[in-house]
Amino acid sequence: MAKKQFKTESKRILDLMINSIYTHKEIFLRELISNASDALDKLAYKALTDDGVGLNRGDFRIDLAIDKDARTLTVSDNGIGMTAEELENNLGVIARSGSLQFKEQMAKEEGGGDTDIIGQFGVGFYSAFMVADQVTVISRAYGADGACRWQSSGADGYTIEPCERAAAGTDIILHIKPDGEEEQYSQYLDQNRIERLVKKYSDYIRYPIHMEMTRERMKEKPADAPEDYKSEWESYTEDTVLNSMVPLWQRPRKDVTQEEYDRFYEDKFGDFEAPLATITVDAEGTVSYKALLFIPGRTPYDFYTREYEKGLQLYSSGVLIMDKCPDLLPEHFRFVKGVVDTPDVSLNISRELLQHTRQLKVISTNLEKKIKVELVRLQKDEPEKYETFWKAFGRQLKYGVVSDYGVHKDMLLDLLMFPSSHSDKLTSLAQYQERMKEDQPFLYYAAGEDAGRLSKLPQAERILEKGYEILYLTEDVDEFCMQTIREFGGKELKSINDEDALPESEEEKKAAEEKSEENKAVLDFLKETLGDRIADARISRILKSHPVCMTADGPLSLEMEKYFKRTGESMAGMSARRVLELNADSEAFAALKRAVESDRELAKKYAELLYCQALLIADLPLEDPAAYTDLVCSLMK
Ligand code: ADP
Repeated sequence: MAKKQFKTESKRILDLMINSIYTHKEIFLRELISNASDALDKLAYKALTDDGVGLNRGDFRIDLAIDKDARTLTVSDNGIGMTAEELENNLGVIARSGSLQFKEQMAKEEGGGDTDIIGQFGVGFYSAFMVADQVTVISRAYGADGACRWQSSGADGYTIEPCERAAAGTDIILHIKPDGEEEQYSQYLDQNRIERLVKKYSDYIRYPIHMEMTRERMKEKPADAPEDYKSEWESYTEDTVLNSMVPLWQRPRKDVTQEEYDRFYEDKFGDFEAPLATITVDAEGTVSYKALLFIPGRTPYDFYTREYEKGLQLYSSGVLIMDKCPDLLPEHFRFVKGVVDTPDVSLNISRELLQHTRQLKVISTNLEKKIKVELVRLQKDEPEKYETFWKAFGRQLKYGVVSDYGVHKDMLLDLLMFPSSHSDKLTSLAQYQERMKEDQPFLYYAAGEDAGRLSKLPQAERILEKGYEILYLTEDVDEFCMQTIREFGGKELKSINDEDALPESEEEKKAAEEKSEENKAVLDFLKETLGDRIADARISRILKSHPVCMTADGPLSLEMEKYFKRTGESMAGMSARRVLELNADSEAFAALKRAVESDRELAKKYAELLYCQALLIADLPLEDPAAYTDLVCSLMK
């Protein structure tokens, strides 16, 4: 039979599995059992509307079988099964949008030793190759006439051929590897070991996991046993259900350990790290439901892409209705994972979703509040965890502010965190406000790529000197966020670039106006020389010791302009109105002024020089770096 080849990505993953770089090989069993459970869910769901299935809820099961002589471990289910085509698509390729990112991640990790990307990418089925040198899948799809056998010994490809199977379902037959120096693979042929693994990872699986367990018992004493009869032992087999099957979310929180929650989360949502927080809800009222929610500690690889689907698993009285019900989560909390179980929605909800919007709305509104409460608790009681959370998902909350602030203001405002000049820790707006100086007129912020650089901006000098704190906005979305929020605790949020960032007394104002008047000739000269490269030149009211800086007039800041350029969203007219600000008290300005009066050629050079310096300080590209260095050199002569 002709061997078919795996697609490239799959091949790489197979290599990974076969060479077993993953330390917890035992998780293969959990992966296969959860696949079986999913397949059962699918058929159970079908059975609700299709009498042809002919199975009741109690008939669905998973079977494990060990054959020591043949060295096989088999995982069977009577679930939905796979057609030949599905076998090909599901097992022959990693048919996932994530495959590209997977490859990238692999490239990054290559040579990096142990790698944990398996959990991250949910390459479940392939994990079988960590312990097996040959994997056979016999599957019959529900509704199909015949069955198919898929077989592979690893990277050299796989075969598919027709075969027999009495009813719909799947058998995954693992031929267990011979024992090696580092790993005793025979442990996976030991019934007690398998039993423990099921208890450890799959106890809550809602279908019974059966296994024939061989046990010993004392032989019954024969009636005619002699005086000195020695009791004998015999072995017998007994069908045993290995798991307790109670869904974790149905158990009261006090009866469940954090470890169980963590394991459930990792297993169900394909993470390899425990969640940062676990939220349980047991609600009774207009809509009754139980919810078990998790806040992950890492950004899923596709989180900020269109591929990521938000949503919670929705169960109705223990039956899975929808894997990712988006209506249960607001967009700004789309990182939350979890399960909602309610008897108050009927089973064919995915087809008649509209009828249930009211119930879903009630649940989602409640959950949103619970999530908020938990996040606030983390922020207060476990700041380090909150920081981890913030690093992973803070951007999403800021998007929430920008996109729908009117509606979500109260929900989001106190969750925001920013770097600031106060310390190397992030600060919330409320914490900032508490620290504010009595005479401080505004909450200040500066936008740019890097906090260290921002702290050295000429514009920051006077503000910092007054003991006022500056928030450092280092993410693209930040400034948009600030413009949406506008004020906090009755005080305006202000860019340090703003002309009146530091309010002036009447005298100061007057003095500033006079200075501008006095230097009008210099300013006009600058505007004339620099042409449309700047919109204006002015005597600065925000500089202290530095001679020059660049700011922008109007709603579009320099950082926003950079953002639009970077993302290609820039349209005609989307440039900032650049303002060259000069410090009239600086020596450089004095030199410029003298030159304007006596040597126009030299003055032109000075104008160029100051303009370029302002660009550099604002982290804006020089239009002609070579010309700039020539200019500097020519002035050194
Ligand atoms: P995942 O479970 O994360 O989708 P897997 O590689 O474990 O990834 O499985 C790939 C696909 O193969 C599954 O999504 C499912 O469609 C199919 N599959 C795996 N095991 C079974 C099974 N026991 N019964 C039916 N389909 C299965």
